[in-house]
Amino acid sequence: MPTALAKELCDEFLDDVYALPHGEKLKQCLQCGTCSASCPSSAAMEFGPREIIASLRAGMLDRVLNAQTVWLCVSCYSCTVRCPAGIPLTDVMYELKRLEVDKGLAKDATGETMAHAFAETVDRYGRNAETTLLRKYFLRTNPLHALAQIPLAIRLFVRGRLEIFPRKIKGLDSLHKMLAAIEENGRR
Ligand code: SF4
Ligand code: SF4
Repeated sequence: MPTALAKELCDEFLDDVYALPHGEKLKQCLQCGTCSASCPSSAAMEFGPREIIASLRAGMLDRVLNAQTVWLCVSCYSCTVRCPAGIPLTDVMYELKRLEVDKGLAKDATGETMAHAFAETVDRYGRNAETTLLRKYFLRTNPLHALAQIPLAIRLFVRGRLEIFPRKIKGLDSLHKMLAAIEENGRR
């Protein structure tokens, strides 16, 4: 991404983050590292949430977008709950995911593909359904990788931990209405 565009995008993105509830607190990050130490995914990340905040404040959006960090966030909220400055880090991660999807900036599309597969699965069943989720994900990435998961799938199935034919939740229509209202609200 050209530097000028990255700078413009970073400023635009930071304005969106500052507009979040408590988003302005990003400016008060102490760089204490509590967020990274609390993050269950940090070992798999190229750099943790502390460095995400530092990079954003330094205008280094490219660094953030070139890593898989954001897509490895599992939205556990540990960082948000423990941050002494009250920074809504999990929401920042969501904003970054949204930015990558909206602007087509994802360097490696596997995280985005998983997110789309998850959203479609929840839309269909009202909840996650592992068989559907993984079928969608592997068909869009590398179907051969699915073969390596077969032994695990069999073990889970034998223990009653995997549904071959997932069931829809009750009140799926209500969930769809709620999601449509949220989406409509987000467009305003
Ligand atoms: S826990 Fe909060 S204050 Fe500390 S580094 Fe992370 S974002 Fe900054
Ligand atoms: S919400 Fe995301 S970034 Fe924060 S601790 Fe959990 S996995 Fe890590």
